[in-house]
Amino acid sequence: MAIPSEQITSICSHCGKAIPAQNIDLHYAHCSRNLEKCKVCGDMVPKRHAEEHYFNTHAPVSCSLCSETVDREILILHRDENCPQRIVTCEYCEFPLPAVDLFKHQEVCGNRTEYCHLCGRYIRLCERSGHETRCHVSSNSVAGPSRPFGSEQGWGLFYLLEELQEV
Ligand SMILES: [Zn+2]
Ligand SMILES: [Zn+2]
Ligand SMILES: [Zn+2]
Ligand SMILES: [Zn+2]
Ligand SMILES: [Zn+2]
Repeated sequence: MAIPSEQITSICSHCGKAIPAQNIDLHYAHCSRNLEKCKVCGDMVPKRHAEEHYFNTHAPVSCSLCSETVDREILILHRDENCPQRIVTCEYCEFPLPAVDLFKHQEVCGNRTEYCHLCGRYIRLCERSGHETRCHVSSNSVAGPSRPFGSEQGWGLFYLLEELQEV
């Protein structure tokens, strides 16, 4: 449809659209009665659907896990990383539990001990990974003829300095 070159348009003061001048009164009457500018996104929304639009598009949502109200943009982040009720796994026993209980649980759980067959001692679970490295390194070094550089290295240096001081 070709637009006649002499056609004049007016800007509707309600929605900001350019409307053919001969229709502007009619348009404005309809527009101002039925449409409303959304304060959040600026879209023109039918007045009777404005509330629905707000709740479906912009309203904060409540997290289904902790029922806290969060902005919908951060809901996924909240559920994945911040929600106190999100399910996390204990690093010691791999038991799934809500994040809010993890700290207390791991304090207890990490203090349980486990028997280390290499050195014959009971090692706390929270120290196990560090212990295993040390324990394996020193048992290897006892067995092997050449002493690999491990966590013992620091001590060797320490003794060396002490000897130097005594001279
Ligand atoms: Zn309008
Ligand atoms: Zn909106
Ligand atoms: Zn939550
Ligand atoms: Zn645990
Ligand atoms: Zn050990």
